[in-house]
Amino acid sequence: MTWDNLDEEEHELSEGDQWQLFASAGYASAESVPSSEDESKAESEEEDVWFDGDDVEANGTSLDWDAPPCPTPLGIAHVIKLGVCDHCLYRVAGRRTKNAGSAGGKEVREDAHARDPGIAKFGTPELCPLCENLFDDVGNIVSRVTESVAGVQHSTMQFGIHLPKDLIQEEDRIRSRHGAPGSRPLKAAFVDAIQADLSNYLSDVRFVKEIPDLMIRVDGLTLRVDIDIRPVFLYGRYRKLSRNIPQTRWPCRACRGRDKGCESCQGTGLQYPDSIQDIIGEPIREALNAEDTSFHGMGREDIDVRCLGRGRPFVMEIKNPLVREHDLDELVSLVNNNGSGMVEIDSLEWTHKKKVAKIKQHRSEKTYTIRFKCSETPDEEIAIAAIEGLSGIVLEQKTPKRVSHRRAAKTRKRKVTSVDRVSVIDDEIEVTLRCEAGTYIKELVHSDEGRTTPSVSSVLGCKCEVVWLDVEEIHD
Ligand SMILES: [Zn+2]
Ligand SMILES: [Zn+2]
Repeated sequence: MTWDNLDEEEHELSEGDQWQLFASAGYASAESVPSSEDESKAESEEEDVWFDGDDVEANGTSLDWDAPPCPTPLGIAHVIKLGVCDHCLYRVAGRRTKNAGSAGGKEVREDAHARDPGIAKFGTPELCPLCENLFDDVGNIVSRVTESVAGVQHSTMQFGIHLPKDLIQEEDRIRSRHGAPGSRPLKAAFVDAIQADLSNYLSDVRFVKEIPDLMIRVDGLTLRVDIDIRPVFLYGRYRKLSRNIPQTRWPCRACRGRDKGCESCQGTGLQYPDSIQDIIGEPIREALNAEDTSFHGMGREDIDVRCLGRGRPFVMEIKNPLVREHDLDELVSLVNNNGSGMVEIDSLEWTHKKKVAKIKQHRSEKTYTIRFKCSETPDEEIAIAAIEGLSGIVLEQKTPKRVSHRRAAKTRKRKVTSVDRVSVIDDEIEVTLRCEAGTYIKELVHSDEGRTTPSVSSVLGCKCEVVWLDVEEIHD
């Protein structure tokens, strides 16, 4: 290593790292290894071994620190003298070998010994400076993984490895100085080794870099293995034929759903016994042997509003499923049986997490049918003409009083795209109309005390009270 190089690195390395640079370059002994506050005693002891220049000097040969990097014979001789293990020798040597992994490293080592018998006296390394003998743990980790995933249906896996930062930095420093250009970094090589061994036990699993069925997190220090069963997502559209079902679970107002519920919610913890989320989600959760669900709707209707037509698009997220493949038609009939005429779906399809954001952001025009009662019995012809006159009008809607506690006060402009049908039945009127996304439709009728202008109430010149409302179609 030249001093020029050292200067360059100084800009990026902390004081401790610089010290390590010297220490591992043989300029200093390892009597007082500076350690970060959270390092355990065991680790410091390991570092003592690692940075102990005496190991190398004890072989009676001085190291050539200016050796060219691998794959030159001098470079290979150098990393062998440093004490790298066969796994690491394989990945940094840059030589073509018959075998991969440690067997490949063994070939490289034997070749080097044949070239220069002097290297052989370095013997078997005790602690590899590149991996701290991490590869010895591969078998152990693999058996933990196979135990953990037994009984969990999956076809893909992704690995996340946590390694101590100082190990990564030191490995990177030695590899980039002495390893062959393009050598596989420690983390990637470690994952390769785990996956190669795992393939002997789980022959039909594919290893992926994104959207895995199972995310396997391995802590290289403690060898702890965590399995994260990724959720599955189903897309569909629901029709809601009841005026008494919220879209998602509502915790009980009295106990807020805590503990095991209270008297007023009969121990359910829920304000309403049913929800679209559970009517659709529960049969699916059971079929997929999952833990819970999350419901993502393309907007929502009030509890007392039906949703008809092709229904409202939604994504059902099924968490921690032990089963990830299922006949979809069968799931549809399970849901419809459970919905018993109050909630219906026509179909389901598998989808991905991305779809959640997509339907959450989506805004679409809707067609509504609304029935309301007039404070004075209207003249049929005049009333129909007045309401039809709203077709194409742009409304100004101040934030309705009923939602003002959770929405900022502002005025929205929303267009009434068309008024499609008006019928007068005594003192009640039914209107079918299509509005721009985000129109407050009840307020369009009763005017919210003049906060929506114009309104059905203002053009009829009487008070209007909404009797019921249906979403006829979401034009998606
Ligand atoms: Zn190693
Ligand atoms: Zn309760």
